[in-house]
Amino acid sequence: MARTPIIAGNWKMFKTVSEAVSFFNEVKGGAEVDGVESVICAPFTNLPALVEAAKGTKIAIGAQNLHFEDNGAYTGEISGVMLADLGVKYVIVGHSERRAYFGETDEIVNKKVVAAFKHGLTPILCVGEKLEEREAGETKNVCKVQTEGGLKGLSAEQAAKTVIAYEPIWAIGTGKSSTAGDAEDVIAYIREVVASLYDQATADAVRIQYGGSVKPANVQEYMGQANIDGALVGGASLEPASYIALVEGA
Ligand code: PGA
Repeated sequence: MARTPIIAGNWKMFKTVSEAVSFFNEVKGGAEVDGVESVICAPFTNLPALVEAAKGTKIAIGAQNLHFEDNGAYTGEISGVMLADLGVKYVIVGHSERRAYFGETDEIVNKKVVAAFKHGLTPILCVGEKLEEREAGETKNVCKVQTEGGLKGLSAEQAAKTVIAYEPIWAIGTGKSSTAGDAEDVIAYIREVVASLYDQATADAVRIQYGGSVKPANVQEYMGQANIDGALVGGASLEPASYIALVEGA
């Protein structure tokens, strides 16, 4: 089955509103390539302006987090209701930085994935091992537990729509990317995990990205692998020319 490649920029905690809008004006057109989905996941403060700027373009706007409740006494949080109301389409869930610095467990990540679907948002579910887990030969097991945990309770139709991002933590922001072959091996395995949870058709439909020091110079190596359907990109998504090159490279 043909899966549409998806490049998603994860800006993390970078860019003011004016910086975000000027970035967008530079990438529109260039970062719109037939047959490739292009998504910018920006800080909450940038989302209204970016959604407005993205109208009439092929670039979708995503958030980097959401709370799993719709409303309530959760000071400082943003819900799926609020994101959907803005016109946001995607939301990153369970990024390793959120797991590490904000205590997000598989259970919390799962509630967030469920909340995303409840409000018509597509989750980009992040999974991936720490360096010590890789060295202990635990990579596949960690990815299995996180994939099963994240998808728990979803229908096959929802699982098929989920974007999974395999991001080995030791490769994030370090310049030490996984080789394309190693990433392909783990991503093919994650697809098997989805097949065993659901069925082969669901596994064939789900898009799985690689993330971790992806840049214009290496994106094509990943895209050349049978099971890798795109990339989740941090640092290299912050410069307009680099972001355009990533989308073109997919
Ligand atoms: P990086 O970040 O591309 O800067 O390694 C990837 C990510 O954290 O999603």
